[in-house]
Amino acid sequence: MKSLTDTFTLHNGTGIPCVGFGTAELRGEHGKRAFLTALETGYRHLDSAQMYYNEEMVGAAVKESGVPREEVFITTKLANDVRGYRETMDSLDESLRKLGTPYADLFLIHWPAPAPFKENWRQMNAESWRAMEDLLEAGKVRSIGVSNFRPEHTKALLKTARVKPMVNQIRLLPGYTQEDVVAYSREEGMLLEAYSPLGAGEIFSSREMKDLARKYGRTVAQLAIRWCLQRGFLPLPRSGNPDRIRENTGVFDFDISGEDLVRLDRVKT
Ligand code: NAP
Repeated sequence: MKSLTDTFTLHNGTGIPCVGFGTAELRGEHGKRAFLTALETGYRHLDSAQMYYNEEMVGAAVKESGVPREEVFITTKLANDVRGYRETMDSLDESLRKLGTPYADLFLIHWPAPAPFKENWRQMNAESWRAMEDLLEAGKVRSIGVSNFRPEHTKALLKTARVKPMVNQIRLLPGYTQEDVVAYSREEGMLLEAYSPLGAGEIFSSREMKDLARKYGRTVAQLAIRWCLQRGFLPLPRSGNPDRIRENTGVFDFDISGEDLVRLDRVKT
């Protein structure tokens, strides 16, 4: 990966820009400004969700940026209180209306067994997945996947799936490597997306991270994002600050040594 427009390839051939801009908690005009700054800085991948309540602003920022729709990869995620065939179809239509676009690039099941479906999540995920497969066939989404799925959740889904998930978006950062989930997801052909690659801010207090960042002449954030890329994870860093939005893209002109990658796998954050 050499730039923000380089892509990973999903198992259906869809290209996905290698760093996504995290959008959780960024809402309203402040959110829109952050998304515009991200697009101006060169990000071409925005990670939204129904539960982030910012799909309108994501759509508005893409339009206002002047970047052609087809050059931006937009993800949204099925909310925790929505399951079932019809409900999933309708909620995607609502997301597309808010995003102001005829298709989403990636549609994920946000959580595998949320509270309203604690007892019947297997059946309800299967029904939602059937809708997502039909949305894929209809061209309303370009790829489909899951988030926060442990192997038992994916195994249950695969019992009735016609199309395997293309992505599993999970929490991954230096010191938090979820090896069992990563290995199983890869066996089933899924790309791993790394959410909270900066530990939602926690990573910045780690002495070891600071020391290693200094060794490479980089910032802690750049080191964490670079670690994701070198481990084959697609990082989704979030910032509402223009300088940091830019800083987080400075990850293509240095290499972390094999030895330091292993140190970062085990770092205490
Ligand atoms: P994150 O990206 O790990 O960290 C964001 C925090 O780090 C913010 O407080 C931000 O503050 C700060 N930050 C960013 N860049 C920085 C820098 N260069 N220097 C110092 N501080 C910096 O947090 P996250 O939002 O939890 O995760 C990222 C994205 O992953 C989310 O936005 C969302 O898209 C996705 N996600 C998905 C799930 C899921 O269940 N699928 C769960 C969590 C997250 P400032 O804004 O002030 O810069």
